[in-house]
Amino acid sequence: MPDLRPFTSFSEYALAELDEWHNQGRPIAGVYCIYAPTELIRAAGAAPISLCGKKQDPIREAEKDLPAAFCPLIKSSYGYAVTETCPFFSFSDIIIAETTCDGKKKMYELMGEIKPLHLMHLPHTQSGEAALTYWLNGLRELEKFLCEYSGITVTEEALHAEIVLQNRIRKELYELMVLTADKRSPLSAKEILAVQECKSFSVHPENYLEKIIKLKAELEEFYKQPDLNEKEGIRILLTGCPVGKGSEKVITVTEELGAHVVCMENCSGLKGLTLPIAETGDPYEAIARRYLQVPCSCMTPNRGRTDSISELSKTFNVDAVIDLTWIGCHTYNAESTIIRRFVENELELPFLHIETDYSESDVEQLRTRIEAFIELAE
Ligand code: SF4
Ligand code: SF4
Repeated sequence: MPDLRPFTSFSEYALAELDEWHNQGRPIAGVYCIYAPTELIRAAGAAPISLCGKKQDPIREAEKDLPAAFCPLIKSSYGYAVTETCPFFSFSDIIIAETTCDGKKKMYELMGEIKPLHLMHLPHTQSGEAALTYWLNGLRELEKFLCEYSGITVTEEALHAEIVLQNRIRKELYELMVLTADKRSPLSAKEILAVQECKSFSVHPENYLEKIIKLKAELEEFYKQPDLNEKEGIRILLTGCPVGKGSEKVITVTEELGAHVVCMENCSGLKGLTLPIAETGDPYEAIARRYLQVPCSCMTPNRGRTDSISELSKTFNVDAVIDLTWIGCHTYNAESTIIRRFVENELELPFLHIETDYSESDVEQLRTRIEAFIELAE
């Protein structure tokens, strides 16, 4: 049976690694978005870790400063910062923020009063040389901020090494996720979520790479056994806003009802894993080009998302799509209409849009809706 302990107890491992990193006088950079270029941050000597708030607990405190109508991810992230209840935020020396959605941008203005914060300016479109040049300049500004803080100069060799490493991680993780979606897989969607979440907390990404390669080998070995039971129940692609430990109620309910979330087209899942960085040519331009293609609803238009859903729905052989969006997330909520039309008309798959928050108050209501959807899709 595959050993999941390195992933299910990842916070203990990660905190021990952060402590060691800190004691060596090396900077830790808190990030809130997958547009934050891991390769550049690492080449500048800092360890990037994800600080996205996934739990309800600090939201009440956040609402003293932020509008209640903001999405729970923004409120939870800010709440952890002001209540000092997240050890990962406490460990972070600097914050790398980004101009994605309006709520986050305004929240960062307040967060910048707590820790040194660099705001990366993203264009809001992904096509055209002007957008690429703007973003490339933004990456140079980020490099300047990081290097001033760390005292390290980024070299092309260091950047290249980080690009090769992160490309390998994306490739191996994607292949692992395809394996976990096998009908004979012994892993639940929540366990798979833990494997994916660990990626953003890895102080030493080479150790994470080793762990996922080991898990891949263990799964391949597991599948060699004869007469393994195959899971019944429909296969769901979950798309939309990021989810994580603490905000996984839709995944829990879906699996309790006998369906299987076999793939997540979101930033805590597979979004961007099939976008490698070119390993030849100017590494800055290669990084800029790749990150600009991340299909987030903050981009207009965001055609890459339908391409990604199309590719994943085929690779993971899905029967239906659930679009999970957080209340207050205008861009993902508005984009849901485009996604519905695409899934129903082009992919000819059943589609359900769920708009909710981190609280448990609507769980029974969600159960009724998801149950009816599964019955319809079967
Ligand atoms: S959904 Fe968009 S803003 Fe949120 S983490 Fe992903 S890329 Fe960043
Ligand atoms: S879920 Fe939507 S509103 Fe919330 S931080 Fe992400 S993009 Fe912004």
